[in-house]
Amino acid sequence: MPYGRHRVLVTGGAGFLGSHLIDRLIERGDEVLCVDNLFTGDKSNIDHLTGHPRFEFMRHDVSFPLYVEVDAIYNLACPASPIHYQRDPVQTTKTSVVGAINMLGLAKRLKVPIFQASTSEVYGDPAVHPQTEAYWGNVNPIGIRSCYDEGKRCAETLFFDYHRQHHLKIKVARIFNTYGPRMHAADGRVVSNFIVQALKGEDITIYGDGSQTRSFCYVDDLLRGFLALMDTADEVTGPINIGNPNEFTIRQLAEAVVRKVGGRSKLVQQPLPQDDPTQRQPDISHARDVLGWNPEVELDEGLDRTIAYFREKLERS
Ligand code: NAD
Ligand code: UDP
Ligand code: UDP
Repeated sequence: MPYGRHRVLVTGGAGFLGSHLIDRLIERGDEVLCVDNLFTGDKSNIDHLTGHPRFEFMRHDVSFPLYVEVDAIYNLACPASPIHYQRDPVQTTKTSVVGAINMLGLAKRLKVPIFQASTSEVYGDPAVHPQTEAYWGNVNPIGIRSCYDEGKRCAETLFFDYHRQHHLKIKVARIFNTYGPRMHAADGRVVSNFIVQALKGEDITIYGDGSQTRSFCYVDDLLRGFLALMDTADEVTGPINIGNPNEFTIRQLAEAVVRKVGGRSKLVQQPLPQDDPTQRQPDISHARDVLGWNPEVELDEGLDRTIAYFREKLERS
């Protein structure tokens, strides 16, 4: 059943996606409780909401129990960039797994729907292309990406077991590479890295030969998908891929960024990190059918908006 005006918990709400989600929820009239330990999040992402009568911030680590009263939960807390989730890999798994248990325990006590920000990383280095939700993935359980990939896989298991065992209303979204304003300038993800390097006139660091592919979704499109999924009937659980199926090589992305920014940045190669997936493209037929959702902002326009954001941010700093 669609839910009306509610008090909504967003974990990871001071991060890139969480802060945009909160803006949408506030816009539509919800009250929002933002819970974040500020590991990768930044208060500046939510500064504009300070003092808003329907917004509250709580500094808290979701790997510890949380007793609050809310009507719906979006669980986004988890570092998303490889350099950040690999900095303290044990904590990354705790955040994904123990954090999921705590948020599911909270949802169970309150009998409220809970959304999980899962990831295309559950497919690992996929042998099936494009990836459908029916594909079980190809994940190294002991590599440097495993704390994130296996943590998110285990979180999905927990969501489905709480659903089967305790009849929780769950909504699991598998998010594919998303970019846009409020990505952390130093968070190491490819779109922000390339834009910041180009704006500073530095070399563009391509890992490997740049032939690996990703499919990039603009943040506004993703958020429409989140809200549509949360508003579906109780029987709709996901997992459901949300992403933009237009696929690019990393070299194509680098060239597009340099062309747009101008300047004298050169493309340079650096070693490919271990277990870096060679290809990634969502099959979004399920999202189209179930949510009537389609991405609308293509890379060309999304890059322009993101470049404008970072240009202004760098000029101010
Ligand atoms: P982000 O790093 O900007 O945001 C994550 C937020 O979670 C940060 O504010 C961080 O401080 C907070 N956090 C981390 N550990 C926490 C803990 N133990 N307790 C409370 N808060 C904690 O990343 P993002 O891109 O906004 O990602 C949000 C969610 O979406 C993550 O769960 C991520 O795995 C998922 N996701 C993102 C993408 C993407 O392309 N952006 C792709 C797939 C999945
Ligand atoms: N929990 C929480 N907030 C709540 C309810 C539960 O943080 O409002 C946590 C609590 O730490 C618990 C976990 O969620 O260990 C799982 O809860 P559940 O009820 O599933 O299991 P149990 O309490 O039996 O361990
Ligand atoms: N990448 C790159 N240069 C960078 C940052 C990333 O070539 O400065 C590559 C990285 O090796 C990967 C792709 O870009 O193949 C996407 O990396 P990101 O960390 O953004 O996301 P993920 O690997 O989790 O999809």
